[in-house]
Amino acid sequence: MLVVVVLFATVLLRAGIVMTFVYFMLPAKRVCPQCGAQLALIQHSVLRRLLPVVEHRWCLDCGWSGVVRQRVA
Ligand SMILES: [Zn+2]
Repeated sequence: MLVVVVLFATVLLRAGIVMTFVYFMLPAKRVCPQCGAQLALIQHSVLRRLLPVVEHRWCLDCGWSGVVRQRVA
């Protein structure tokens, strides 16, 4: 039983490390990475509850769409 707990803990630890790296790899800017235009925020009720630190944004000029880091103030 202890083996299961230890293995589950390492899986959670690995998932946490990967999520942290992915979070810091996301762009934190409010401008499009392709054309530099302002990005429009797409509201997601589910994403906002599950992951409030990221937001889905869309470029009105070139059509780029992706997840960016939410900037704190
Ligand atoms: Zn763009």
